[in-house]
Amino acid sequence: MPAADANAAARRVPVLLPLPLSGAYDYRVPAAMELRAGSFVAVPLGPRLVPGVVWDCAAGEVDEAKLRDVEEVLDAPPLEEELRRFIEWVAAYTLAPVGAVLRMAMSVTDALEPPQPLRAVAITEHGRAVLDMLARSPEGVRLSPQRRRCLAELADGPPRSMIELARAAGCGSGVVKGLIEGGFAEWIETSFSRPPEPDWKRPGPAFSPEQRRAAEELSARARGGFSVTLLEGVTGSGKTEVYFEAIAAALAAGRQVLVLLPEIALGTQFLRRFEKRFGVEPTVWHSDVPHRERRIAWRRVAEGSASVVVGARSALFLPFRNLGLIVVDEEHDPSFKQEDGVVYHARDMAVVRARFCGAAAILASATPSLETLDNVARGRYAHLELPARHGGARLPEIRIVDMRRQRLEPRRFLAPPLVAALGEALASGEQAMLFLNRRGYAPLTLCRNCGHRLQCPNCTAWLVEHRFRGLLRCHYCGHAESPPAFCVECGATGSFAACGPGIERIAEETVERFPAARVAIMASDTLTGPRAIAEMITAVEERAVDILIGTQVMAKGHHFPLLTLVGVVDADLGLSGGDLRAAERTWQLLSQVSGRAGRADRPGTVFVQTYLPENPVIAALVAQDRDRFLAVEAEARRRHGMPPYGRLAALIISSPDADEADFVAAAFSRAAPQMPGLTVLGPAPAPLALLRGRHRRRFLVKARRDIRVQPALREWLGRVKVPRTVRVQVDVDPYSFL
Ligand code: ADP
Ligand code: ZN
Repeated sequence: MPAADANAAARRVPVLLPLPLSGAYDYRVPAAMELRAGSFVAVPLGPRLVPGVVWDCAAGEVDEAKLRDVEEVLDAPPLEEELRRFIEWVAAYTLAPVGAVLRMAMSVTDALEPPQPLRAVAITEHGRAVLDMLARSPEGVRLSPQRRRCLAELADGPPRSMIELARAAGCGSGVVKGLIEGGFAEWIETSFSRPPEPDWKRPGPAFSPEQRRAAEELSARARGGFSVTLLEGVTGSGKTEVYFEAIAAALAAGRQVLVLLPEIALGTQFLRRFEKRFGVEPTVWHSDVPHRERRIAWRRVAEGSASVVVGARSALFLPFRNLGLIVVDEEHDPSFKQEDGVVYHARDMAVVRARFCGAAAILASATPSLETLDNVARGRYAHLELPARHGGARLPEIRIVDMRRQRLEPRRFLAPPLVAALGEALASGEQAMLFLNRRGYAPLTLCRNCGHRLQCPNCTAWLVEHRFRGLLRCHYCGHAESPPAFCVECGATGSFAACGPGIERIAEETVERFPAARVAIMASDTLTGPRAIAEMITAVEERAVDILIGTQVMAKGHHFPLLTLVGVVDADLGLSGGDLRAAERTWQLLSQVSGRAGRADRPGTVFVQTYLPENPVIAALVAQDRDRFLAVEAEARRRHGMPPYGRLAALIISSPDADEADFVAAAFSRAAPQMPGLTVLGPAPAPLALLRGRHRRRFLVKARRDIRVQPALREWLGRVKVPRTVRVQVDVDPYSFL
């Protein structure tokens, strides 16, 4: 950090603040204050004190007289060089202000304060004596069974919070309070304790030869420097078990591990498996984790005492001290792309961070993205494949239901072959799953009298009926309203009709057809957060559910041994539309969903309802022919110079005023970059031309793969003056085309 040293000599230091600023501000260092690059400090900004990080860039030119003092050095481990460089890199790549990226690394600012001592319940000498007496003569002591259990639990383990103790002993907190009042237990202050260490020495399962080869290779990589490996294998082939070995190897080498999962897969199922393998739960990081726990987690990661973090994409910006392995499970999952604030792809950025800190990256998937497969083809990523399912379970049989030939009654969506199979599965005590990637009751409501369609007032989108809640809802902005009593266009009453199915409607039909079946719904709006999802999964595991009906939430890698039947209600959904990855995503979703059927010793069957049986995606799926699908898709992308064979970036201009949006878009159009190998398409009204009350215009920049688009974009943005009411959003490598 030569720059910081030089600045220190001048007693002036650049401090980067976690705010949307594109550079650091200068501050004066008071005499006797010791700072180094990466130190967390509190500095004045206007009337406030804000936390920031001493940066190692050149100091600015601010007038000596205007400089304000660094107020104090915060008591937190300094931000590592590796993370500072990573933050700068992400900012440069995504064109986000570097301070906005820093903010993701400083998401719990109160973790910068030294942790408060925690109060915990501990057993007293009297409590121990009573337990001893109880062991000798159970009749001699008067203590309720609940209190006995709780006291024994306390004697066996460490001091804990009242809630943790009550949970462990399976009693209420009143029992704990009683023990304290009786002098059996007492409150003590514990220091901020280290989390229990995962035990990497515990043996893993007995691997098949292919699994062992993959595990050994990955373990070697986890002990080495930077590398990227795609771990590919169908659902159930043992990818998780295999990368657990790599985690053990990284831990044995004394390094920290990060496992990134799609938010939705962060349920207890994964945590339980981890605990079974390593004896303790990992540190968990996602939006559902309470602030207090996140604060502890951040601090432990920064101090290096949290050795394994399992988290959603935001965990990528945690201040690890010694990161040796990053696993991105379900690497193809679109939820790794963050769409607001700093627009980044966590899988891609995970590879970048691994490079900065000399770590191994493992990308695991049953249906890898074309981007990753292309990196494998070009020799940049290694490739390990797990061929068969563990234990020889068979892949499901896939049956096409050609909907053009089916005769369905009005307002019915399940074709007779699927209904018959459901009946059989129920009769033999097995479970079934119906998949439809559409929340709510019906995607469109219209007036039968005049054809008027109910639309969101803020967005170019239909309102989706959610019948269970009695609401019409916009899936883009969240706008909700009650179903209208009459049509605003023609005044007719009772004339509204639901068009098409959502999962609620499928549930309704299922219940009507199978009144005795226990039906449950699983979608992102019926299950909010990992905890609700975990409860649902437990219900399915414990056979409290016969038919599970859900959206893509359900397609993730959960294990349901009794599930033998999957019905894909509308396989064509997602094949249409202007999304570059529509076919790829449909393929991935359908493969994942089919992977749910027949996991244990029972073979599974998948019914695919489609109007397009000849479509290459559907045909490849039925044939379970990954290579054929990928060849068709890759060829189409290559022909059009689309990712991964070319680069894309989007510019979205939005304003509350349509004319202003057009005006600014025209200015951008005139200033558009002109260079060989780069084309600017647009401006065009975005498919969601109106979103949350803002009118949106899109440009799409298409470039050859060997061209760096960021400098061109940066210059372009610099050439156009944008009024305050207009927002310009840059999306490098866009995944959403709305
Ligand atoms: P994937 O991650 O590829 O879906 P998993 O690692 O979850 O596969 O494995 C599927 C199931 O098979 C899990 O219950 C796992 O514990 C079990 N399993 C996989 N490999 C083995 C093995 N070698 N021995 C015992 N159980 C295994
Ligand atoms: Zn809306």
